Amino acid sequence: STQQKHNFGAGPCILPISVMEKAASSVINWDGSGLSILEVSHRSAEFEEVVAKTQLLVRELLSVPEDYEVLFLQGGASTQFSMVPQNLLQASGNKKGAYLDTGYFAQKAIEQARHFGEVQIVASSREKGYNYIPDNYSLHHDAAYLHLTSNNTIEGTEIFEFRNFGVPLVCDMSSDIFSREIKVSDFDLIYAGAQKNMGPAGMTLVIIKKTLLTKIKYPLPAMYDYRTYAANNSMYNTPPVFSIYVSMLNLLWLKDQGGVSAIEKQNIKKAELLYEAIDKSEIFYGTADGGHRSRMNVTFQCRDKKHENGFLNYAQERGIVGTKGYRSVGGFRASLYNALPLFSVEFLVKTMAYYEKMQE
Ligand code: PMP
Repeated sequence: STQQKHNFGAGPCILPISVMEKAASSVINWDGSGLSILEVSHRSAEFEEVVAKTQLLVRELLSVPEDYEVLFLQGGASTQFSMVPQNLLQASGNKKGAYLDTGYFAQKAIEQARHFGEVQIVASSREKGYNYIPDNYSLHHDAAYLHLTSNNTIEGTEIFEFRNFGVPLVCDMSSDIFSREIKVSDFDLIYAGAQKNMGPAGMTLVIIKKTLLTKIKYPLPAMYDYRTYAANNSMYNTPPVFSIYVSMLNLLWLKDQGGVSAIEKQNIKKAELLYEAIDKSEIFYGTADGGHRSRMNVTFQCRDKKHENGFLNYAQERGIVGTKGYRSVGGFRASLYNALPLFSVEFLVKTMAYYEKMQE
């Protein structure tokens, strides 16, 4: 393998080596065409086929029902923080955007929604450092939608049960989409930046219920209007061609692995192995509450701060990268995205045990 590091980075993150190799060769000569994937028209039949295939793979892998649109946008998940309220809240009358405050990115979404209307924070785990997912809350009768963050990339918590409140459910799935089975019909709008389990940074996936689109009844700037992307097959302007192309390769890889249900089993195994090691350790401890521990981003700290740099350096010398916790949180975060092999987790666990033994 040419991948010589164990990459636990939180995103952009590890992608399968076979995907990288195919992507690299297509940059030079795409499928023997004598052209690079980077220099072909997005309006060419060949590239239109890439878009169609990628959409189809999203539909297949997530069993997206017919009454949903699969759209490719730009601007990252962060642009969705404002597009959601711009499309769904701004002209909803006196309705409020309901938000579950489960961490840093939920906060960012709330901040942007306030530009477009009133926000109701239905519950927050802020006072406990966002180490759990609140589940005891209700909605105002005048909520336009409820916004959730299914996986909190920085804090290492994940939502495993989605309740129905009778209002459109909007979910930021940036860091756990394609990592586990979901029921798309539980949601009205799903969005995700590509750069975790979908592909390289550059495109943003939006899955939106068609009836929700018809509720947007007022003019919006074209690039901020979901209807633009639905009406133009995500090709209103030049789409992020390389990101879409490599996402197609990566989703084909996922299909080859047996799809989302097969990768979910792997992901559970990887997460269990690491959490078990953390729970056994005298030096490290997990930060997220038992029932809400993320399978994608495992956050942990050390009891004695001296081990923070100590272990990071020790791990780095052994080819383990990307395990430093987010700057506002500190400690460690090991991300276990789809392409991270089980043996990398086994190697991390062994390295933790060796490090601990060395301290005796
Ligand atoms: N939401 C979540 C859950 C994320 O993890 C991230 C970034 N990693 C974002 C939103 C922001 O995404 P982007 O950088 O694509 O704007």
